[in-house]
Amino acid sequence: MLVSRECALQGLKELVGEAQVLTSKEALRGGSLGLNRGYERAFDLQTLPDPLAVVEAHSTEEVAKVLKYCNEIMINVIARTGGSSGEGLLEVRDPDTIVLDCAPMNKILKIDKYNMMATCQCGVPLQVLEDEVEKDGLTTGHSPQSLPVAFMGGLVATRSIGQFSTYYGGIEDLLCGLEAVLPDGRIIRIRNVPRRASGPDLRHLFLGSEGGLAVITEVTVKLFTYYPQDMWMGGYIMKSMGEGFEAVHDIMTKGYRPSVVRLYDKSDFDYNFGSVEIGENEAYMFFTCEGPKEVAAANGAGIDAIAKAHGGRYVGTEGVAHWLVHRNDVNKAIKDGTALKRYRETEVYYATTEISASWEDIKQIYEDVIANVPKKIPNLVMLGGHISHSYQTGTNIYFVYHIKIDAPENYYKEHCAIVDAICEEVLKYPTGGCVHHHGMGKQRVHFAPIEHGSSFTLLRDLKHMMDPNGIMNNGVLIPKYDH
Ligand SMILES: Cc1cc2nc3c(=O)[nH]c(=O)nc-3n(C[C@H](O)[C@H](O)[C@H](O)COP(=O)(O)OP(=O)(O)OC[C@H]3O[C@@H](n4cnc5c(N)ncnc54)[C@H](O)[C@@H]3O)c2cc1C
Repeated sequence: MLVSRECALQGLKELVGEAQVLTSKEALRGGSLGLNRGYERAFDLQTLPDPLAVVEAHSTEEVAKVLKYCNEIMINVIARTGGSSGEGLLEVRDPDTIVLDCAPMNKILKIDKYNMMATCQCGVPLQVLEDEVEKDGLTTGHSPQSLPVAFMGGLVATRSIGQFSTYYGGIEDLLCGLEAVLPDGRIIRIRNVPRRASGPDLRHLFLGSEGGLAVITEVTVKLFTYYPQDMWMGGYIMKSMGEGFEAVHDIMTKGYRPSVVRLYDKSDFDYNFGSVEIGENEAYMFFTCEGPKEVAAANGAGIDAIAKAHGGRYVGTEGVAHWLVHRNDVNKAIKDGTALKRYRETEVYYATTEISASWEDIKQIYEDVIANVPKKIPNLVMLGGHISHSYQTGTNIYFVYHIKIDAPENYYKEHCAIVDAICEEVLKYPTGGCVHHHGMGKQRVHFAPIEHGSSFTLLRDLKHMMDPNGIMNNGVLIPKYDH
């Protein structure tokens, strides 16, 4: 930073007013922790520095003024909207950092029912937008588990994906256009054209940019006609995960379009599904289909036939209905402190790591992770996984694990050890991708050169071109800090 901390604070106050520059202990602590530092909150540990300030932005113009100033004095800026991300995306590693809180930019600007688009500021919670469009019989189609706590800017910046993605797509399929502010304060807009062929698609500079290139201030997303009353659903017990993989492969490659496709192994299943029971090596697979009644029913009939042809035992809709009702309960536990209380009582830390691979590689990756990771992580008390987002060419796996932590101050190191162990298994395979939708953050970024291979040089050049002074969320996209 080119000026003293006092001088920087004073400059920020002059730009946006004193009331929008927060320096209370509570604001700074909140500013330095992402959600995957929950264990730290539970045990009241402080292993990361506080930022200089949390600066609230109420308009695009304020974002532009703050970025321009921070670029001139060279202070690190971490943009934040919902604050729901993990993977160290929001972690402050350098005290000469401000958190730019864009949550106050929370206006829905336009719901265009004829052209099927909604435009809103970056701080609009997705749940608020979804509730608003549902009043008109529409849906955003975007439904991550963090629906109640994630906001539009962060959803684009992390390249997020929703639970019904197999029908509606990820945010990259839903984003029409946006407004953003570059580090030097320039405001740019990508217009909402249905499709264009004029060079590379510039939306992709912002999708998954993790706050490392620009601040997204406004987004326009697609809308869909919503037919919840016509949803088809069905659950099946499969003889093994292997049979489940084959069934999902056939469903996806034969052209069916379910909205939810999930396949759980026994370990993961036991934590999720009330009254349904499965045997030791069995797996549970379920689907929902959406769209107009005839479309949902036709997809459902095709899926049912394929699931049964793979030995699937139809077990009705009870498990699916249970999942639909309880699928986002975890947010409540995070918000009301239950999750922190459970950490304190059990000293067991739980988290997930999401990866993807082609159909050919995914089965072996699943088996390798389940067989090899416990050998490296002695304090692992549970490891399982499920498929939740499938494609014509492959699928993802969410690995879910619990680790017993001996000394709370070591938990982050222990969490990183298991994330590393999983990613190392995945990256042995030609189509293995070590991050499916949470972002690399500062936690997995050391894998970026392997993940991107020979194209990593482009990412480095892009960062340098868009953020030449290196002020945007240092340590994401390109490794900077020690792991
Ligand atoms: C219980 C739970 C369940 C989850 N389930 C899912 C899921 O199903 N699917 C999924 O994809 N993710 C999921 N997540 C992860 C998280 O919710 C997503 O990454 C979400 O997109 C983050 O949005 P946010 O508004 O909270 O962003 P934040 O946490 O505020 O920020 C995330 C990143 O985006 C950057 N950023 C934020 N706002 C801006 C902006 N305006 N301009 C530029 N950069 C910005 C930040 O610097 C940071 O790097 C889950 C998280 C939790 C806690």
